[in-house]
Amino acid sequence: QNSSRPVGRHFLQIPGPTTVPDRVQRAISAPIIDHRGPEFAKLAKKCLDGIKTIFKTTNPVIIYTATGTGAWESALTNTLSPGDKVLMLETGQFATLWKKMAERIGLVPEFISTDWRHGADPSLIEKRLREDKNKEIKAVCVLHNETSTGALTPIADIRKAIDAASHPALLMVDTISSLASADYRHDEWGVDVSVGGAQKGLMLPPGMSFNAVSDKALAANKTSKLPKSFFAWDDMLNMNKVGFFPYTPATQMLQGLVVGIEMLHEEGLENVFARHARLGEATRRAVAAWGLENLNKNADQYSPTITAVMLPEGHDADKFRALALETFNISYGASFGAYAGKYFRIGHLADINDGTLVGALGITEMALQLAGVPIKKGGVQAAVDYLTTAHGGGAKKA
Ligand code: PLP
Repeated sequence: QNSSRPVGRHFLQIPGPTTVPDRVQRAISAPIIDHRGPEFAKLAKKCLDGIKTIFKTTNPVIIYTATGTGAWESALTNTLSPGDKVLMLETGQFATLWKKMAERIGLVPEFISTDWRHGADPSLIEKRLREDKNKEIKAVCVLHNETSTGALTPIADIRKAIDAASHPALLMVDTISSLASADYRHDEWGVDVSVGGAQKGLMLPPGMSFNAVSDKALAANKTSKLPKSFFAWDDMLNMNKVGFFPYTPATQMLQGLVVGIEMLHEEGLENVFARHARLGEATRRAVAAWGLENLNKNADQYSPTITAVMLPEGHDADKFRALALETFNISYGASFGAYAGKYFRIGHLADINDGTLVGALGITEMALQLAGVPIKKGGVQAAVDYLTTAHGGGAKKA
């Protein structure tokens, strides 16, 4: 008999949207309140203050009722003018999409290409900026975490590269799949616009995004000429000052955001980052023990939130994902670009613990064997051994 009901909780191992914790879910289902009333003003203040602690900034953070793509657009349109040159780095699919957007809205992006198997290289940025004697490049746009490949770029080094070239370009960073999962410091790293999203480390559903802004970005906003209306920072900042939004905000998402931020601080941001680093390492050890290759070739830039696993020649990663979904009720991330069909992505971020990861890796080991992918056994054991050691293995007597 065929069963039409998948049993148990779905393993949502995509690198976002992530599983929404029950506590956040309950907050979202609170009764709707007046978005111009005093209760809302208190809620908005909690969100606007709280989100600064996540970006590590004392400057304003703008909250949009839009997905991350909207916050990409707002970063560009609020600071730049038609025909401005921007330097972008082709770390993978999402960097490519941001570049396409830049072209569409009338900017002139210059794309430093890579093989999609490395994060951004700060030395290439420094070299290009040094060549730009007339300071025509108005912004450098980088992804902190390239979700399509699993490469984490060191943003402090990108800042150093820009400073070493004594270049005035704005630094814009997409931290959508690293915020609240990997250490991120908007102020300390001198980022001008940080772009965040709700549906990854913040543990909310999709539909909310952020721009953290520097004083330099706010100054650029005054002279920028690209058209903007829904995303205009000035209206937002003016209304936010008194606890409101220029239009009806996603009140329920804001209810959830308060709780998401609360949960992150209850765990402690440093612990959140350590947990993600631990789960990322455990995943990579499993992949290595299976004898499979990580798409990301640079061990210094491994992502703590997603691991892209290459399948051997002749094996179709999309078919593998379909088989795993049907058999084990698990979703993995898809593959893109020249590598489409050649790898799958394991997301290990947000409200996930060691047990969930071990379960997901166990499923993966079974599914790989079921799909006839030639692997060595022992991936799960390698992850379990590592996690045990990471927790002080054997040191704590029961
Ligand atoms: N940037 C990165 C790094 C992403 O991972 C994503 C989505 O996964 C986006 C941008 C686009 O965000 P959204 O799909 O929320 O519009």
